[in-house]
Amino acid sequence: MTSRPEKTEIRDLSLLPSVDRLLRSSAAGSIRDAAGADRLTALARAVLDEMRSALADGELRAGSNAREALLDEAEARLNEKWRQMSRRGLGRVINATGVVIHTNLGRAPLSNAARNAIVEAAGYCALEYDLSTGARGRRGQRVDEMLCELTGAEDAVVVNNCAAAALLVLSAFAAGREVIVSRGELVEIGGDFRVPDVLARSGATLREVGTTNRTKLADYERAIGENTAVLLRVHPSNFRIVGFTAAPAIADLAELAHERGILLIEDAGSGATAELRELGITDEPVIAESIAAGADIVTFSGDKLLGGPQAGLIVGRRELVERVRRHPLYRALRVDKLIYAALEATLDAHLSGRAAGEVPVLKMLAAGSGEIRRRAEALVDAIAGPSLTAELIDGLSAVGGGSAPLEQPFTTLIALRHSERTAAEMEASLRAGRPPVVARIADDRLLIDLRTVAAEDEGLLRDALSAL
Ligand SMILES: *Cc1c(COP(=O)(O)O)cnc(C)c1O
Repeated sequence: MTSRPEKTEIRDLSLLPSVDRLLRSSAAGSIRDAAGADRLTALARAVLDEMRSALADGELRAGSNAREALLDEAEARLNEKWRQMSRRGLGRVINATGVVIHTNLGRAPLSNAARNAIVEAAGYCALEYDLSTGARGRRGQRVDEMLCELTGAEDAVVVNNCAAAALLVLSAFAAGREVIVSRGELVEIGGDFRVPDVLARSGATLREVGTTNRTKLADYERAIGENTAVLLRVHPSNFRIVGFTAAPAIADLAELAHERGILLIEDAGSGATAELRELGITDEPVIAESIAAGADIVTFSGDKLLGGPQAGLIVGRRELVERVRRHPLYRALRVDKLIYAALEATLDAHLSGRAAGEVPVLKMLAAGSGEIRRRAEALVDAIAGPSLTAELIDGLSAVGGGSAPLEQPFTTLIALRHSERTAAEMEASLRAGRPPVVARIADDRLLIDLRTVAAEDEGLLRDALSAL
C-alpha cells in the first residue's frame, strides 16, 4: 500500500513563483491576447500579493512538490481573476419572470427592426443633415413627424427620458410661477422620480388641490391665481386608488386652463397607443386622446408601453414645443442618433399597424395563456428528469415598468422542484449561467413564465433548466 503524501502548511516565501514565471505559465498565455500585456502583469502581481499574505497567514498547504503546487494555485487564481474581470457588464439576460417591462432588466426589449436600425445608424447617418438640399437639417426631424402622426399633435421633441421631459417642460413654462397638481397625483415613480421634487427643481412652486382620492374641477378653479402658469395632470402609473374616487376629465381641465389663459400639461408616463386597448390594457392614458381632448403638452416614455428605446417624448402645440426646443436645458437633455434610429423603427411599426406582431412588449402582452401553456408543455417534456420535477400551474404575469398595475395577464407558469436543491439554489445557479436566466421563487418552487422569453431564446432556456 502506498501512503498518500501528507500536505503540510507552507510558510517559505521563496517557494512562490516569481511574476515572470507566472507570466510564462500556460494560464497567462491563454489570457494574454484578450487582457493585453499590461493588464495581465497587473493581474499576476495581484495574484502573487494575495498568495503572499495567504502564505504568511498559514493558509496554503502542499504535498511533496510545493513549488509546483504553488504555481498551479497561482495559475488557478489568475484564471479566476480574469474570469471575473472579463465578465460583460451588459450581456444579454433571459427574462423568465413574466414582468414584461422589467426596469432592472432594461425595460422594453427592442424589435429586430429597431436593433438593425441602431446598427445602421452607428456609422455616419443624416442626423442633422438634409439630403435633399445638402444643407444642415433639424436633428430627429423624421421622428418628430412620426410622433405627430401617431398622436395628432402639431409638433414633438425627444429627450433622454420622461423625467427629463417633465423637468424641461416645467422649466420652460412654469419657472418662477405656480403649478396646480391634485393631491392624488403627487406620486413617486420608480425610485427617484417624485413629482414635488421635479417641480421644485424646475423652479416652479407647487400648489396642491383636492384630496388623495377625490379632486374636482372646482378645486382647480378656485386655486388658479395671478401667478398660476400650469395645470399639471400626472398619471399615477404604478399605483391605483380604487373605490370612492373622482378626477375631472382631461377635456374639462383643458377647457378650464384655456378659459383662464394658462396651460394644461399631462405627464402620461407610459405612452399607450389605441392598439393597447385591444390587448386589454385599458387604464393607461392614450396620448392621442389627451391631445384631442385639448392638452397643450403631453410627456411620456419611449421604453414603456411604446416598446422602444429609453427616451422622453414631448408632444403638443407647435409654438410651445418650439419653445421647449430652444430652451438651454434641451441641449443637455437631447438624445443621440442611436436612440433616434430605434425610435424611428419602433414608431414605424406602430404607424403601419405591425406593432402587435413586431414590437416585443406588445407581442408579449398579446400572447394568450393558451399559447403560453402550449410552449410550457413542450418545454416541460424536454427538461423533466429524475431529480427535477416540473408542473404547470395557472398564474399571473405583470406589465411592469410602473404601468397598468391592476392589469395582470393570465399565464401558465412552469413550477420546478429539485430533489437535492432548494429553489433559491436553482435560482442562483440560473443567474450565474451563460446567458443568465432570471426567474421567480414562490413556495420553495422556481417559477418560469414564458411570456417574457422570446421564442428564439427557448433553446437556451431549455439547456439552462436541463443542467439544474
Ligand atoms: C415612468 C414615468 C416617469 C419617468 O419616466 P422615465 O422615462 O423613466 O424617466 C415619469 N412620469 C410618469 C407618469 C411615469 O409613469
